[in-house]
Amino acid sequence: MANNFENPSLNIDLSAPDITDTEIAAVAAVLRTPRLSLGLELDAFERELAAYHSLPHAVAVSSGTAALHLALLTLGIGEGDEVIVPSFAFIAVANAVLQVRATPVFAEIDAVTLNLDPAAVERAITPRTRAILVVHTFGVPAELDALQRFARHHALVLIEDACEAIGARFGDPADPRRVGSFGDLAVLGFYPNKQLTTGEGGAVLARDPAHADRLRSLRNQGRGPEQQAFLDGLEGRTSTAGWLNHTEVGFNYRLSEIACALGRVQLARIDEILALRRAAAERYHALLSGIPDLELPPLVLPHRIISWFVYVVRLPQLPHDAGLRDRVHAILADQGIATGRYFAPIHLQPAWRNRPSAANAYLPITEDLARRTLALPFFNRITLHQQEQVAAALRRALADD
Ligand SMILES: *Cc1c(COP(=O)(O)O)cnc(C)c1O
Repeated sequence: MANNFENPSLNIDLSAPDITDTEIAAVAAVLRTPRLSLGLELDAFERELAAYHSLPHAVAVSSGTAALHLALLTLGIGEGDEVIVPSFAFIAVANAVLQVRATPVFAEIDAVTLNLDPAAVERAITPRTRAILVVHTFGVPAELDALQRFARHHALVLIEDACEAIGARFGDPADPRRVGSFGDLAVLGFYPNKQLTTGEGGAVLARDPAHADRLRSLRNQGRGPEQQAFLDGLEGRTSTAGWLNHTEVGFNYRLSEIACALGRVQLARIDEILALRRAAAERYHALLSGIPDLELPPLVLPHRIISWFVYVVRLPQLPHDAGLRDRVHAILADQGIATGRYFAPIHLQPAWRNRPSAANAYLPITEDLARRTLALPFFNRITLHQQEQVAAALRRALADD
């Protein structure tokens, strides 16, 4: 069994990638070709990602963070603009906004879904607001109806961060749509702890062909569309005619053929992956249901199909005992069980707490929940036996406390 590199005695990891012989064969096949970047695997991965989301375009990039950065740039968000974001989220969400010189405005979350509370978003709108960057936290779709309505009404752009939520759906139970297909742009992330991994990687989903062109240019050093086109033909590999033409200042956010080949197999397996994760969540639900005061994540929510990213429980609310969660984390770690303190609010992070965005944030729900949430070991192949060990250890830790 794999060990957690931070603590070699751990024997149940927080997450683990699920790589089968099919992924290994696909990667090996790429390595037998001369084309290791900007080739047929990239093209196919992008077409398959777009089709999965019923969208015309997907642009694969080197990480979810790169995807966020390019999405903001492509929509023209910059200096003087405000972007409404959650603080109960991965730090890249706020960093990317700052990196385009815009200002993140932290809004409060809903205590059930852990996603942006539409009422809080509406209160946060000012004349400078340009965008709502909504995160589908832990794979639970955010309140997309209301957010789309505000975006339309206030002429804002809506960006979905679906890095934790590939395959989740929202909407009318008769015809729910995959998250990532609601915003002006949406981002995906393929880090090894995500439902779909390419090792490192990400993608931006787009509806507008002009957005897709701009994203492809920005990820590839600002090369113009005609310089992109020659890359489509394998024979173009030897031509450098267009390769050194740059129409704007871009980045190297490309995703290798090796990563794209891996991603294609993972995407072909996504239904199986999501079913394994749902089954693991259901097993935890059954095993943990009897523990007093322990709050479990809802298995079903109206108008939503959850894509299980992590399994996060909430420890009892003890106003005078802020250290309970950290003690439980340590007790389980001593028994070889990794848990995660998801999420430390962004506005309280050392990198953020002295910035004006953080000083202006009043987020009591975020702060309360962030002190009490604990992610349990959760991955495709977690066994019932491992989950029983986790449940027993958690039950003991809470009973002894
Ligand atoms: C994982 C994740 C990202 C992207 O992370 P990378 O490590 O840059 O791929 C972005 N947003 C959220 C909410 C995430 O969970």
